[in-house]
Amino acid sequence: MTVSLETPLDRVLGARTAGPMAESLGLRTVRDLLRHYPRRYARRGEMADLTSLEVGDRVTVLAQIRSVESRRMRNRKGTLTEVTVGDGRGRMRLVFFSHKHGKLVPGAWGLFAGTVSTYKGQLQFTHPDMHLLDDRDAADDDEWARALIPIYPASKEVSSWVVQRSLRTLLGPEGRLGSLVDDPLPEEVRTRHGLLPLAAALLDIHRPTSTEDVARARERLKWDEALVLQLTLAARRRAAALEPGVARPRRAGGLLDAVDARLPFALTDGQREVGEQLAAELDREQPMHRLLQGEVGAGKTVVALRAMAQVVDAGGQAALLAPTEVLAAQHVRGIRALLGPLGRAGELDGDPAGTRVVLLTGSQRAAARREGRADVAEGRAGIVVGTHALLQEGVEFADLGLVVVDEQHRFGVEQRDALRAKGDRPPHVLVMTATPIPRTVAMTVYGDLEVSTLRQLPGGRGGVATSVVPVSDRPAWLDRAWERLREEVSAGRQAYVVCPRIGEGADADDAPDDADGAPADGGDDRRPPLAVLDVAEQLREGPLAGLRLDVLHGRLAPDEKDARMRAFAAGETDVLVSTTVIEVGVDVPNATVMVVMDAERFGVSQLHQLRGRVARGRHRGLCLLVTEASEGSPSGQRLAAVAATSDGFELARLDLETRREGDVLGAAQSGRQSTVRMLSLLEDEELIAAARAEATALLAGERGLADHPGLAAEVAALNLDERADWLEKA
Ligand code: ADP
Ligand code: MG
Repeated sequence: MTVSLETPLDRVLGARTAGPMAESLGLRTVRDLLRHYPRRYARRGEMADLTSLEVGDRVTVLAQIRSVESRRMRNRKGTLTEVTVGDGRGRMRLVFFSHKHGKLVPGAWGLFAGTVSTYKGQLQFTHPDMHLLDDRDAADDDEWARALIPIYPASKEVSSWVVQRSLRTLLGPEGRLGSLVDDPLPEEVRTRHGLLPLAAALLDIHRPTSTEDVARARERLKWDEALVLQLTLAARRRAAALEPGVARPRRAGGLLDAVDARLPFALTDGQREVGEQLAAELDREQPMHRLLQGEVGAGKTVVALRAMAQVVDAGGQAALLAPTEVLAAQHVRGIRALLGPLGRAGELDGDPAGTRVVLLTGSQRAAARREGRADVAEGRAGIVVGTHALLQEGVEFADLGLVVVDEQHRFGVEQRDALRAKGDRPPHVLVMTATPIPRTVAMTVYGDLEVSTLRQLPGGRGGVATSVVPVSDRPAWLDRAWERLREEVSAGRQAYVVCPRIGEGADADDAPDDADGAPADGGDDRRPPLAVLDVAEQLREGPLAGLRLDVLHGRLAPDEKDARMRAFAAGETDVLVSTTVIEVGVDVPNATVMVVMDAERFGVSQLHQLRGRVARGRHRGLCLLVTEASEGSPSGQRLAAVAATSDGFELARLDLETRREGDVLGAAQSGRQSTVRMLSLLEDEELIAAARAEATALLAGERGLADHPGLAAEVAALNLDERADWLEKA
């Protein structure tokens, strides 16, 4: 049989192995499997630490069998086999019911995978997956002990050792790989950057003899990923340049001037500078593609609104995509208020020279939606604000000129593209985020995205003081926290109390990725996260009795949510107990206190976003992170870091780092096929920049990749959806 990179795995491995591999790991072809790299390597002689296991961990351990005992079970038929394994430091028990245990002999080493439980105080795996290490071909003990065992991203159905065995079949005798893989990297590129040939790198990554092998192989394989990504992006850039958009020049005497005249404050220098940048770029045919980043409260909205007004003045439409209904509704209110009669064209008191501001959300009644869509399709609405509903089919624009995406991290690349595709010609795009994005991420996610930053907060802001309230270490501090909240309310301010869960039944919140980013330490027998409904009740009866308290969460009907949010904004409620639906963009300047319950369950960036809600007015904000994590624990330290800095860049970095930490053997074994596996956006900045330069050079000529069929094939194999997925996570 001739095998190529495109050969389906079932032809090489048989359907019984290949089936589950495709289903649970997404590995379908020889290429997929070869590019399924080990997550890490274990050494036989290096003891896995059985003493550090915690109940509930799903882990793989490397251990030696100490004893094997079988006995008949009393209450049912069959035998119970108990195996004790040890790794030199700790011991654990393996239990098998009716297991044929012929191979389980004392002295043998094996990898055992399962979920850790306890029985009579001893750690235990029940029916673990296992792989007894084969020492037949071990030349001598020392070599055997030092050899690196690759540990692969695995799934319940396909364990690491099945992957390893399959690769052994595939790689076969050493020579085979060389004829199997044509190196897609042009020779010059390889030489210029001192990289291994592909076949050698693949062999070394799957069957290394030393850690140096692994390092050199990784360098080469990272290059493949970086180059293919950058080629894809460079190709997109070229395509975009060939398909020009529409210039939307600034016009005097229109909406934009009206907005400027009605603004209740003076723009900051930063807002003015970025505004000029945008105005100039909107005036070009080359579609603008810009990321606007700025701390929470930096005043990005008004910058976006001014750009939108310019586009409307030039005869186009502008769409503002918001991540939640609460936020979309808030934007519409804000924009209408600012435009006054100019935002009500066609209404009795409207100015006919103005435009309409339309809200489109998924929960609207059919009639309202129909009317809104008609206004959009027929061009009466110049400004359209909405949630995901904007992306749906059936939403047609008369002339979409600008897409603004608020709080970018909640949207995928695909969704952004779906909205872009609604213009006849590519619209200008402005993406706004309060989560600062490291340069390489921006470079990789968007390819040609230019970045603007609002560094200054509008004057007169008080900022936020953040403190951790470790209730296990210092229980009295929680009472003090509620007292502080009451003091603020007495002084006329308002407060948020944020909980990770709604309560009562299944939780599905408005916020799509609540749980991301919060790495669980241990993740064992913790109690369920605190819930809005429970906490609200306790507060009402206890520490906050007498205050006007309301709850807000994603299970409320959108009208209801909106009404409650509005009541809070109007000062009719003192305390809003809520989930992270209030996370993004909500703007109530009079709110000065935020108490986050179970704070360790939130990601670093998320906490930073959250506290931004109380830094909006003249008064100094206070954010209290209530946690049961002790001060010294990893969670406690993470929270301390959030409290210690208000630098969003530093926190974004910390967020990426702590997420990677969780990614160790055991914590995240469900590997999924993705295109970018080795490249780290944080650590490989130089490599990515070099690959970007090579990609641009490779595509500069007329022939594109015609002279590099191998590279062209890799680019074609890149699954854009997966890329998007991965990048959103980063
Ligand atoms: P974000 O950048 O987080 O989206 P917003 O655009 O919601 O911030 O602005 C936060 C608050 O600051 C809003 O109440 C807004 O009206 C106000 N604001 C924006 N720009 C200025 C300014 N130049 N001076 C004073 N207040 C401003
Ligand atoms: Mg905002």
